[in-house]
Order: sequence, then structure tokens, then C-alpha cells
Amino acid sequence: VWISTAQVAHKMLVLARTTPLEESAKPTLGMSLFYTDLDRSKVEVREIGKMGRKCVDSNQVFIDGLRVPVEDRIGEEGRGFEYILHGLNPERILIAAEAIGLGRAALARATRYAKERVVFDRPIGQNQAIQHPLAKNWMELEAANLMVMKAATLYDAGKPCGAEANAGKYLAGEAGFNACQQAVMTHGGYGYAREYHVERYLREVMISRIAPVSPQLVLCFIAERVLGLPKSY
Ligand SMILES: Cc1cc2nc3c(=O)[nH]c(=O)nc-3n(C[C@H](O)[C@H](O)[C@H](O)COP(=O)(O)OP(=O)(O)OC[C@H]3O[C@@H](n4cnc5c(N)ncnc54)[C@H](O)[C@@H]3O)c2cc1C
Repeated sequence: VWISTAQVAHKMLVLARTTPLEESAKPTLGMSLFYTDLDRSKVEVREIGKMGRKCVDSNQVFIDGLRVPVEDRIGEEGRGFEYILHGLNPERILIAAEAIGLGRAALARATRYAKERVVFDRPIGQNQAIQHPLAKNWMELEAANLMVMKAATLYDAGKPCGAEANAGKYLAGEAGFNACQQAVMTHGGYGYAREYHVERYLREVMISRIAPVSPQLVLCFIAERVLGLPKSY
């Protein structure tokens, strides 16, 4: 599920178990990665309607009876999961950067509106109840961005970055969401109007909060893999 661009793709990446689980030394072994044709006579693609992220289609994909030639395999048999992992950290860093960008755009609009909108003869931005949440949003976004940049720097240097990429994704997702929500609230009723754009920022930032890994699962990762706490499952 949630397979991007399957409406238009000619090719797809498939991770498939090629050695039965019981014969594999670890559950993560025995899977192979393929880059193969998206043969629509064997693959059914159903589009999922959604609240944002309209630049790409998202789909449920059902594969039945698709034969994949061995020439389509990437790398060695049984090591596919390891190859997939290489893409996960940069994906987290990328989505985190997206959340920071959305948060900053929302904060800029909120700040502008707070200066312009006059209620009872003074701009609403003169009230600390308007100012302080926006100041907090700025601090959260900039702090999260430092973690995202740390993760990106480690990744670019070819160093392990799992903890930083996950932490950056979590912090940026939360900071971006908080800023977008506050931008809607700062606009009052007009926050709900399309004209001011902040409603679509709020819809769009939800995806960088949910995917590619949910906040709860980042917390699981940090607790178990970084702090060494016992597994919860
Ligand atoms: C628009 C869109 C595009 C996407 N694109 C991709 C893509 O390109 N590639 C890809 O791989 N995925 C993609 N996803 C999928 C996305 O990564 C998952 O939806 C996301 O990781 C959450 O997993 P799930 O939907 O299976 O939720 P579930 O696992 O069903 O979880 C439901 C809720 O329960 C919580 N939860 C689950 N387990 C625990 C736990 N142990 N402790 C506490 N809470 C828990 C989750 O955090 C979540 O809030 C996309 C999703 C969307 C919406």
C-alpha cells in the first residue's frame, strides 16, 4: 500500500522473499530486490484518494502471478533488505527537510498576518498570546533543522546516521506540524480559507509527520536501538 506513482510507472522496485523464512538465518535475510516491468496484466493498481501530496498519485498495488526474470535482480540474492535500508535514512532526512520548509513558510505567513491584521486599533501581533507561540515555533524549527543537517552531514560523509535521521524526522515533523497549526490559528477564521494558503500547509505537513515512519515508531527506534532498552514486542 501507499505506492507512489504506480498510475504512470513502467518499472517498479520489488522486494520479495526468495528463501523461506524458516530457512533464513535472520528474518531480514532471504529477501531479494528486483527492478522489473510493471506488467499491468499481472499487477492491479488502485489509486487512494488523499488529503494532500497531490503532486504524485498514491496506490494500493496487488501483484498476482507476476514472473520476474533473474536478470532483473539488483545485487546478490537474499540481501535485498540490506539494500533497501540504504535508502531509508536519506528518505527520512529528505522528508524532515520538507517539514522544516513547510513550517518556515507557514511561520512567515503567520508573522506577516500578525503584523497586518488590526483588531481594536492594534495589530494582533502586538499581543504576547500571539507572539509567544510563534517564537516557540521558530525555536522548534531551527533546533530540528540542526538535527536534520547533522544527519545529512553524516550521511554525505558515508557515516552511520540512523539515530540522527530518525530523530531529525521526528523533530522536524512535530515542529513543522506545530508551526502549520499555529499559522492557521493566527489567521483566525481566514486560516480556514484557501486564500491564505495555511490550510493547505497544514494538510501537507501531515504527511511528513506520518510517513515514511510514524512518530511512535521513531520513539521505538530511539528507545530500543539508541538507548538499548528492551524490545516492547
Ligand atoms: C501519502 C503517503 C505516501 C506514502 N508513501 C510511501 C512510500 O513511498 N513508501 C513506503 O514505504 N511507505 C509509504 N507510505 C506509508 C507510510 O510509511 C506508512 O503509512 C506509515 O509508516 C505508517 O504505517 P501504517 O500506515 O502501516 O500504520 P500502522 O502501522 O497501521 O499504525 C497505525 C498507528 O499506530 C501507531 N503504532 C503502530 N505500531 C505502534 C507501536 N509499536 N507503538 C505505538 N504506536 C504504534 C502508528 O504510529 C500509527 O499512528 C506512505 C503513506 C502515505 C500516507
